[in-house]
Amino acid sequence: MKLHPHSRRSFLMGSSTLILASGTSSAQNTPLVRAGLVTDLHHADKETRGSRHYRESLRKLEEAGKLFSRYEPDFIVELGDIIDAAEDVETELAYLGTVHKAFSRLPGEKHYVLGNHCVDTLTKSEFLGIVGQDRSFYSFDRNGVHFIILDSCFRSDGEPYQRKNFQWTDANIPEAELDWLEKDLQSTSAEQVIVFAHQRLDLEDSENHTVNNASEVRSILEKAGKVRAVFQGHSHKNDHNETGGIHYVTLVAMVEGSGAENNGYSTLEVFADGSLRIDGHRNQDDYAWT
Ligand SMILES: [Zn+2]
Repeated sequence: MKLHPHSRRSFLMGSSTLILASGTSSAQNTPLVRAGLVTDLHHADKETRGSRHYRESLRKLEEAGKLFSRYEPDFIVELGDIIDAAEDVETELAYLGTVHKAFSRLPGEKHYVLGNHCVDTLTKSEFLGIVGQDRSFYSFDRNGVHFIILDSCFRSDGEPYQRKNFQWTDANIPEAELDWLEKDLQSTSAEQVIVFAHQRLDLEDSENHTVNNASEVRSILEKAGKVRAVFQGHSHKNDHNETGGIHYVTLVAMVEGSGAENNGYSTLEVFADGSLRIDGHRNQDDYAWT
């Protein structure tokens, strides 16, 4: 485990809080929820391009799987771009079939966030059909914590991404999904909410890696008053911003760099007192907040 320079102080504060708590009851040290997180595998049977080593992601996922097996998470979230683009539908379906099979072998329930590369050639229903997931955006509860999966793979005119009909910079959360999100946040009785998304929600609306209406989404999340953190991928690098009382954590991409030392994955723990702990492995940074 490596400590992120910016999180060192809050991590230490978090630890001491936990140590104090352990004096009264060991149950307070047990997280309510434990999850495994991976993102941007870009699995494809293709030659390396730049820093993207497409053929190595399966091996990197296997290493993450070994750690997750010992860790026994309640669920694992894949934060998008699990495959890279192929020339045709059949090839892309084959990439997805292969990586889905490997991902399925990991312990706990699985959740897929749609990334732009997931629906480059495929339609959303083709992707979801293969991975056996009903919806591209939805929510679920574990042990009193509410989790939301978002889908930002829509063009600004509301059309869903499919069959190379979009520019990757034109990511949007359409009106219907915003309405659903607002209602979902109103109706949950959970005190803590965690959001998973592919494209970033913590940048200016005009930036390339952001959702075009990110500021609108952020204000809905802030209004709810109980969203603790948003986990996202897409940028392929570690990043963290705290705005409106919400932590936005961008996770490192599994596809970047060659060899085991360039892997990246993490575990997330949510505690009853509101503490969050992210243990990063290989190139993934650590965070802890109380
Ligand atoms: Zn990606």
